[in-house]
Amino acid sequence: MSDNSITIRDLYKNYGEVRALDGINIEIPGGQIFGILGPNGSGKTTMLKIISSIMEPTSGLVSVNGINVMGDPMKVKSIIGYVPETPNLYESLTPIEFLGFVGSIRKINHEILTERIYRFAKAFEIEDNLNNFIGSLSFGTKQKVAIISAFIHDPEIIILDEGMNGLDPRSAKILKNLLLEYVSSGRTVLFSTHVLEVAESVCHRMAIIYKGRIMDVGTLKELRESAGRHDANLEDIFLNATGDSDLKPVIDSLRETMNR
Ligand code: ADP
Ligand code: MG
Repeated sequence: MSDNSITIRDLYKNYGEVRALDGINIEIPGGQIFGILGPNGSGKTTMLKIISSIMEPTSGLVSVNGINVMGDPMKVKSIIGYVPETPNLYESLTPIEFLGFVGSIRKINHEILTERIYRFAKAFEIEDNLNNFIGSLSFGTKQKVAIISAFIHDPEIIILDEGMNGLDPRSAKILKNLLLEYVSSGRTVLFSTHVLEVAESVCHRMAIIYKGRIMDVGTLKELRESAGRHDANLEDIFLNATGDSDLKPVIDSLRETMNR
């Protein structure tokens, strides 16, 4: 099945005594920007790392584009572009050198690679930084370099872990448009965030995750309807999805983030 979908069945992940994923089942269709929305510690990063075949699950099944992630991790890596929550770039390289390095690992033709680097750098307005050491760049510019490196092999599926972090509003808008254009050709974007406004503005559909479980899935409109109000806010949606009224600390932390 080459529909760029992601299927997750009975996925568990324990870190020692900590159960980070507690039986995730979800079907993520291709051709959409799909959000994973949940407070810090809910299991988003763990889930995305397992899908990207960076980490092994304790048990369960993940298939990406019909490929079993645990069975053929190299194949999965070749069709996925992954932007980690905290990008680890080589500080003593320039973006040109770093992206050239990533491109050579991906075995991209030199001309195509150069064309892509400049096209993305122009889109993100970092052309002037391409020859400066990464270590000297702002957090936002580093984030852009990490995003470009995930796009460099023209993957079928892009996975961004808190991908809007560190981006100014203009860059966030550029990224959003890039992602929209990307999925319009039937490819898939999976996007985690702990901020409702980000999910709201970027994602076609989203799943609410809490304590390693998927609590609800739908468009924002559907999630609001299931919470019983068309103007439902994160608190309403969250309370409805978790069915737990004892979540004040969690909601406070989300609200703090929202008001920042
Ligand atoms: P999120 O990305 O939603 O903030 P994470 O997937 O990072 O959530 O974490 C889920 C849970 O797993 C949290 O309780 C976190 O403390 C725990 N956890 C994550 N990584 C590790 C690790 N390497 N070792 C032990 N516990 C971890
Ligand atoms: Mg995380």
